[in-house]
Amino acid sequence: MKAVKTVVFGYQANPQTRELLCGARDMINEAIRTCIAENIRGRLELRDRIYKEIQEQYGVVSCFPYSVAEVAWSIVKKHKHWHRRPYAKRFMFKMDSANFSLNYSILSLPFRKGERVLIPLQYGEYQRSFLMDKTLKRGSVTITETSIIIAFSKESTLAEPSRRVGYDVNEKSIVGSDGTIHDLSEVARLHTLYGIRRSKFYEEHAPDRRLKRKYASSRREEERVDQALHRVSTLIVEKARANNEAIVLERLKGIRYAHQRGNGERTAKRRRIAQWPFRKLQSYIDYKAGWAGVPVEYVSPSYTSKTCNICGGINRNLKLTDRSWLCPHCGAMLDRDLNAAINIERRGKIRCLGEARPEARGTDEAVKGNETG
Ligand SMILES: [Zn+2]
Repeated sequence: MKAVKTVVFGYQANPQTRELLCGARDMINEAIRTCIAENIRGRLELRDRIYKEIQEQYGVVSCFPYSVAEVAWSIVKKHKHWHRRPYAKRFMFKMDSANFSLNYSILSLPFRKGERVLIPLQYGEYQRSFLMDKTLKRGSVTITETSIIIAFSKESTLAEPSRRVGYDVNEKSIVGSDGTIHDLSEVARLHTLYGIRRSKFYEEHAPDRRLKRKYASSRREEERVDQALHRVSTLIVEKARANNEAIVLERLKGIRYAHQRGNGERTAKRRRIAQWPFRKLQSYIDYKAGWAGVPVEYVSPSYTSKTCNICGGINRNLKLTDRSWLCPHCGAMLDRDLNAAINIERRGKIRCLGEARPEARGTDEAVKGNETG
């Protein structure tokens, strides 16, 4: 299995790196304009179209237009607000592993013909371990005004786990079937807090962009949410590696459907849930686990909350607000999140040490519905 990890390095900007970033941004914006004006529909088509022009106009080496087309295409593809035209606002450039070289800590990037930009990377112990590890392959490099991000990859062999642990991710916490609880209320709180701050802010000083950046920027919010998600995903993966566990998670398909308009939830709550970065948390766990050799499995989310982990009976009347419930079939008192986590764990089919036949226990087969628990 191929595992990828991106590592952030510092560097000292100089006139040459600024020129490279400015030049790249101009080229990217030109490529975006061409892409829209000529209704170009694919990355390769864009590349072929701009290749010669950019090379001649800017005197750059032949691999440069390739990277320009990649970045330009990713901006066009991600663009959603079509009342405004897409363009590259920030200084950011990305280059393929085939085109740059990294000699210990000196990054060497091609630019104009006969000219390479050399950048000494700044690093700490953590980053150093990646530079020194000869078994790692280098992927793409991304340059911004303040940092250099290098993707490293390796072939990672998954350990055969000694047991599975299921995790139920909900709005305010992530609960493991082994009883571990990670608090995520900060994420929900940040969304609410910044949501209120933003709307208040626009009422009071709409045009002041500098203040907005300081108090209500969504980038700041995202950074703080990211920090919280990184912290929790690291803890979960580290524990799994230390105890030789496999991680079992719910497949997230349809999570937004469960909270659509008209199902009786308040607008504010629906908004919070829609914003809640489940996918992000899952992807963080996924790539960290991949790097650490910890297996991750995804199971069906249907009825995970509504099924009693003791008798297997289903409580169809369970409401979203019920934090604990009494099983109508066997009378057991169940904690909503822990019960769901146990059901998720049991749906896992990933092979564990000492298991003769990997087979799902529990209720996955019994409930083939589309309803989300
Ligand atoms: Zn029961």
